[in-house]
Amino acid sequence: MKTEDEGEYLKGTLEKDNLDQIENIYNELNTKQDKFCNTFNIHCKKNCGECCKHFYPDVTRLEALYVAYGLIKDNKVDLALSLFDEFEKEGKFDHCPFYNDEVHCSIYTIRPLICRLFNAAASTDKLNKPVFRSCKYNDSKYCRNNDDFKVHQEDVITMEEFGEMVQSIDTSSNLPEDFIPAVRKAIAKLQFIIDLKKQSE
Ligand code: SF4
Ligand code: SF4
Repeated sequence: MKTEDEGEYLKGTLEKDNLDQIENIYNELNTKQDKFCNTFNIHCKKNCGECCKHFYPDVTRLEALYVAYGLIKDNKVDLALSLFDEFEKEGKFDHCPFYNDEVHCSIYTIRPLICRLFNAAASTDKLNKPVFRSCKYNDSKYCRNNDDFKVHQEDVITMEEFGEMVQSIDTSSNLPEDFIPAVRKAIAKLQFIIDLKKQSE
C-alpha cells in the first residue's frame, strides 16, 4: 500500500476499531448537543476562549488516541511535539497547549471529550436529575454564573452519559492521564504500528 495518508495504515487494527467507535460517539454527541443547545438557547460568547486559557485537560487513553490519530492524518505531529517541548520547558500547566489567541482551539475537530461537553451539556445532580451548570465566563442568557437550571427532560444529554459511553469502549484503561504525555504516548503507539505495516509491504 502506498498512501499519503499515514492513518490508512491503521486499517484493520484494534486501534482503528476503537477510533471509529469514539468517532461515532462524538458524532452522536454533536447531533444531540445541537438539539440541546438550541432548545435551551445555550451558546458561548462570541470569540471567547477563556476556558482554554485556564484549563489543562486530563484525558483517557482513547481520547488521546483520537487526538494523536488526527495529528497524524493532518501531518501535524512534528508541530504538536515541538509545541509540547516548548510548553513543558515553560512549565506552566495552567492552560491548554493547543490554545492560541488566533484560532483558539488548534485541534477543534479532534478535541477531547470534556472540551466538547463543557458549557454545552447537562450533568446529573444528587437526585440523578439533569442540571445545566453554567460557564462562569459567559454572561449570555442561561450561561451566567450561579444561574444553573434544571432541565428535567428525559432526553437531554449529560456529561456522565457520554463519559460512560467513551469509557465503555476501552477495556484496557480508563484512568485519566496528563494530556501531553498521553498524546505523546498515543502518537508513539500509532506510529509504531504504521511503521510495522510499512515494513511488511
Ligand atoms: S465555555 Fe465559557 S469560557 Fe469557554 S468559550 Fe464558551 S463562553 Fe467562553
Ligand atoms: S483541546 Fe482545545 S478546547 Fe480543549 S482545552 Fe485545549 S484548546 Fe481548549
